[in-house]
Amino acid sequence: MTFGWQEAPDGDFAVIGDPISHSKSPQMHEAAYRELGLSYRYFAIQVPSGEVTSALDKLREQGYLGVNVTVPHKEEALTWAQNVEPLALAVRAANTFRLSDRSCINTDAPGFLDTLEELELTNKKVLVLGAGGTARAISYALIHKGYDIQLFNRTRSRAVSLANDLGLPTSDVIETADPSGTGLIVNTTSASLNSHALPILWDRAANDAVAYDMMYANPVTPFLASASQYGLRTVDGLGMLAAQGARSFEWWLGIKAPRLAMLEAIR
Ligand code: NDP
Repeated sequence: MTFGWQEAPDGDFAVIGDPISHSKSPQMHEAAYRELGLSYRYFAIQVPSGEVTSALDKLREQGYLGVNVTVPHKEEALTWAQNVEPLALAVRAANTFRLSDRSCINTDAPGFLDTLEELELTNKKVLVLGAGGTARAISYALIHKGYDIQLFNRTRSRAVSLANDLGLPTSDVIETADPSGTGLIVNTTSASLNSHALPILWDRAANDAVAYDMMYANPVTPFLASASQYGLRTVDGLGMLAAQGARSFEWWLGIKAPRLAMLEAIR
């Protein structure tokens, strides 16, 4: 069930975004509370752009403890925070807010790295598609883990600006989405949200490359459907959702998250 922020019921935790009705975060966090015998409530709350700070003020007044922030508010919500951890500052995006002291962190970047460990990649060359908040967070994380990244975005100037911020040469922003030589192709665009396909030259991808979509869809996103047709290994965004959610849970509550129960609740 989704609420507008002005009508949000009293609760403990929430995810805010626009759109938000597709979010699996409530079922995932509530599964964690059930697993551990906790009585918290977690809601999905719709907040239009431009209203994020008012919504956070209201949720705080209502007694909410923590809020996850998703598309398209990860930058706007930062303006509300008074304590921003260094990683969120560096990537200019936070997805996890504690309302009592107006502090925030980014769990997307470490959550993404959690999921990469399971892939056991040997080829460390990565093509990142997109140049929004998620691309910023995961590119930063990849570079700090020694991966060699290239960027491709529909609006090239945004990818160039991201490359500059990351200290990459402009030559790492490619004109066509050509995955030649890469071990991992990560789709951070919201194209899958609208079922749009991306102009990727799949026939140039190596057979052992992995296609990783931050999004998830039933049965599958257009990005992963195309990758499968070309024989690539595919990974959807559900593992990442569980990983970033578990890290939010642990930061808010200071107890270990039941990661398996969280993943099972959304699979
Ligand atoms: P932003 O709005 O910051 O960025 C969106 C990006 O998508 C931009 O690069 C934009 O390109 C591109 N884009 C949008 N529509 C299209 C299209 N039709 N064709 C090509 N490119 C397009 O979003 P975020 O970075 O915050 O989030 C991106 C996605 O990642 C979302 O779908 C989100 O749900 C998902 N996500 C999933 C997580 C998980 O746990 N699984 C965690 C975090 C994010 P342009 O610059 O040209 O506009």
